Amino acid sequence: MFDELNDLYQQVILDHCRQPRNFHPLQPASCSAQGHNPLCGDQLTLYLALDGEVIKDASFVGDGCCISKASASLLTESVKGKTRAEVQTLFEQVHEMVTTGRAAENVGKLSVFAGVHKFPTRVKCAILAWHAAMAALRGDGQPVSTENNPAGTGDL
Ligand code: ZN
Repeated sequence: MFDELNDLYQQVILDHCRQPRNFHPLQPASCSAQGHNPLCGDQLTLYLALDGEVIKDASFVGDGCCISKASASLLTESVKGKTRAEVQTLFEQVHEMVTTGRAAENVGKLSVFAGVHKFPTRVKCAILAWHAAMAALRGDGQPVSTENNPAGTGDL
């Protein structure tokens, strides 16, 4: 699929895939959640540390395809310093972007995933970490799966 993505986007995704940022368990973490995409085999655990409503730190561990790892890596960079409400908005913007290709202005580097909408099987790879982040913030401790998505988070 990379041949069809813009070169710059490809480079950013490959860079984050090969050298994921914040790739470690977080101690202490305020919350965490597991995400699983059985169609591709992507599996990750996302950790968040909160100070009140603000996300102070984020990290992840896991294994999967390049898109899923790069997405989780960029997520951990993107959510730091944001409030719960801002992360919820960002999730909705990323979801819109990977399903339609339309990137909101404030998604920043995350716009590298806009091209994923052309590859429906990879959309779940790109959004997996975001569903895990939403699950962690909900704090119900339930693992999320792209194939058995709990009510309230919307269809993938
Ligand atoms: Zn994948």
